[in-house]
Amino acid sequence: MANFDVLIVGGGAAGLYTALCLSELAPNWTIGLVTKDNLTVSASDWAQGGIAAVVDKEDSPVFHAKDTLVAGVGLCEPKAVDVLVHGAAKQIHKLLGLGVDFDRQQDGSLALTLEAAHSRKRVLHSADTTGRALVSKLAAGVLQKSNIQVLAETLVLDLCIELNRCTGVYYLDQHLQLGCLRSVVVVLATGVGLLP
Ligand SMILES: Cc1cc2nc3c(=O)[nH]c(=O)nc-3n(C[C@H](O)[C@H](O)[C@H](O)COP(=O)(O)OP(=O)(O)OC[C@H]3O[C@@H](n4cnc5c(N)ncnc54)[C@H](O)[C@@H]3O)c2cc1C
Repeated sequence: MANFDVLIVGGGAAGLYTALCLSELAPNWTIGLVTKDNLTVSASDWAQGGIAAVVDKEDSPVFHAKDTLVAGVGLCEPKAVDVLVHGAAKQIHKLLGLGVDFDRQQDGSLALTLEAAHSRKRVLHSADTTGRALVSKLAAGVLQKSNIQVLAETLVLDLCIELNRCTGVYYLDQHLQLGCLRSVVVVLATGVGLLP
């Protein structure tokens, strides 16, 4: 019997946002979110400059894709870039709906800055603490959801693999107890960190 329908490893922007979106999509699913830290500690919390998205009517996903592929010098996965440049604006509007406070111009429109590698102004920001503005709202949203259980200070050590399927994770908790969490689906959102 699984502990969760979905288990997300990682409490940065990716993990928190995945948990929130799944919670909305499937209110009956039980969702676990495991992080080795707590919800206020992640690289996402440190991000400063902002988030690139095509929200200006003079801009286009074609320009955004071109800039991204040039900056990526051959390392980008083109399909992933396509998803990013076409989907970012919709997600920005969703973040605004969640209360993320992006800076605005005097006329109320979103303030966009020009950052390295971008040919257009397309970076949304919240002063120079964009990550914190984002993570604080996402974390507050996650903590309000009754179908999301947060397991903080829990280090995932390895994946449970049975018959070539991932069925959960092995962990070490804050009391140095080893354990296993079972889940139908496991999502890895551990940033650039690798499992130990
Ligand atoms: C100083 C700084 C400034 C930045 N500025 C920008 C910027 O302006 N714009 C931009 O787009 N990007 C910026 N970035 C990059 C951006 O922060 C990352 O790309 C983004 O935050 C990645 O989000 P994430 O959720 O994938 O990973 P993270 O935020 O790194 O979250 C990973 C999560 O996984 C957890 N975790 C990892 N391993 C385990 C494990 N074994 N067990 C349990 N939990 C685990 C961590 O505790 C954490 O909660 C910046 C990064 C830094 C450090």
